[in-house]
Amino acid sequence: MTDIAEILFERLGDKGWLPPADAGPYQRDWLDRYGVEPLGVARPANAAEVAAVMKACHAAGVTVIPQGGNTGLAGGAVAGEAGAVILSLARMNAIGAPDRDSGSVVVEAGVVLSALHESLEPHGLIFPMHLGAEGSARIGGLIGTNAGGSHAFRYGMMQDLVLGLEVVLPDGEIWDGLRAVQKDNAGYQLRKLFCGSEGTLGIVARAVLKLYPAQKQRVTALLVLPDHTSAVAFSTHLRAEAGEFLSGLEFFSDFGLELTLRHIPGLTFPLETRGPVYLLVELTSGSSRVPLDDILGAALEWGIEEGLVLDGALAMSDSQRSHFWLLREEQPEGQRLEGAQLKHDISVPPGRIAQFIEVGAATCEEILPGVRINPFGHMADGNIHYNLSPPAGQADFGGKAEELRDALAAMATAMGGSFAAEHGLGRAKVALADAQRSSVERQLMARLKTALDPEALLNPDVIVTRASVKNNFRVGDFS
Ligand code: FAD
Repeated sequence: MTDIAEILFERLGDKGWLPPADAGPYQRDWLDRYGVEPLGVARPANAAEVAAVMKACHAAGVTVIPQGGNTGLAGGAVAGEAGAVILSLARMNAIGAPDRDSGSVVVEAGVVLSALHESLEPHGLIFPMHLGAEGSARIGGLIGTNAGGSHAFRYGMMQDLVLGLEVVLPDGEIWDGLRAVQKDNAGYQLRKLFCGSEGTLGIVARAVLKLYPAQKQRVTALLVLPDHTSAVAFSTHLRAEAGEFLSGLEFFSDFGLELTLRHIPGLTFPLETRGPVYLLVELTSGSSRVPLDDILGAALEWGIEEGLVLDGALAMSDSQRSHFWLLREEQPEGQRLEGAQLKHDISVPPGRIAQFIEVGAATCEEILPGVRINPFGHMADGNIHYNLSPPAGQADFGGKAEELRDALAAMATAMGGSFAAEHGLGRAKVALADAQRSSVERQLMARLKTALDPEALLNPDVIVTRASVKNNFRVGDFS
């Protein structure tokens, strides 16, 4: 055992320290693209133990990689080079008693999102973050990536749902910001700084999360549409008609449906008509007095009359509703099981979704004829997962992957959007980000990192390259 391994084993014990031989499940990322064998896996049981790990690693100059559920799609939760300690929050999974009057709950960073949902049910409260990986993703990881998901347009991203934080800093100091108030302008918004920082500035140990009263009713529909332009037009109408009751507005394509039906056992398509585009629409209300059925019914009637909606079905039971959602949420898994893929997490102003998809298709076809495009995502906030599979019969992208990625990123930027909407940069997109963002933006990020982690020991080369930190760039240093 190395010195640091011995120190950590002594401090954390059997349950809290795994040697490299037992690090297998923590080593590779969800997409199996990144991750080398770590020096070991630290599994602290509380904030004091996280601080002890950080202090020991800081003193020894050892790099630390925070890891939650390891469902991140940008390779930020695994070691990029040998000699790093993975710090898993999995054992820190306590959920406090929810405070109904204040609408908040204190949770540890290792709580799995679906476990939080289940724990709140008996209290008539919800935590309104939902995404396909909710059975594995943990609160600290969701904060680390500032996750979005399918309800973000109504309730906000993770940064809007975090009221307070407890964070262990790179040198092992603990910042206690566990305040349960929304209004707190006493200085810089430190809690927001850590949301989306992908484990590069500090390790979230606990969080105060914002809760909402449970929904008393919901209506869910699966619709078939002739094209993305119709989907945008119908969505605009629905947003105006349903107002704050609209809580789900997801889209996917027929190619995505085909992959999902092919690879996910038990999934079927419930409508007679297939079409190029599908919308999953959901309205919810915390009051039983709101006529959700009427609101959705009138909007659908309008959509059919206008020729924007070709067919549709309303979910008649909870299990049917879950089935509709699975058709959308299993899109990433369906495509993963098809083979090689290129994932692009794009956002554009929602009114430009159809334009992006159309121009993107022509651009991709020019670069790699026959490339298969599976655009799906969150219509209301313009978030398109513009994922590609190689041409039929081809195992890979024939050396065109970078060209495709750069062209799509440039298109998103040119349309006033982002090439990293909700999954973060991780290790996967740092070079791309450096190419896309302005020099001032690059400097600001490098300086923030340098201020909090001057030795670049916490998740180095994620978001900001280690070279930028070591050079301690100042405004004007980049050209
Ligand atoms: P990890 O993968 O373990 O870590 C993610 C990042 O956060 C890493 O950089 C890590 O170092 C850092 N981190 C982890 N824990 C901490 C901590 N305690 N303190 C500080 N930093 C930490 N994302 C969306 O936003 N919306 C979606 O709709 C969505 N759908 C998905 C569907 C599928 C099928 C999959 C596999 C992923 C999806 N994701 C989605 C991506 C992923 O689920 C989210 O990024 C999630 O937030 C990651 O949580 P995690 O616990 O797995 O984090």
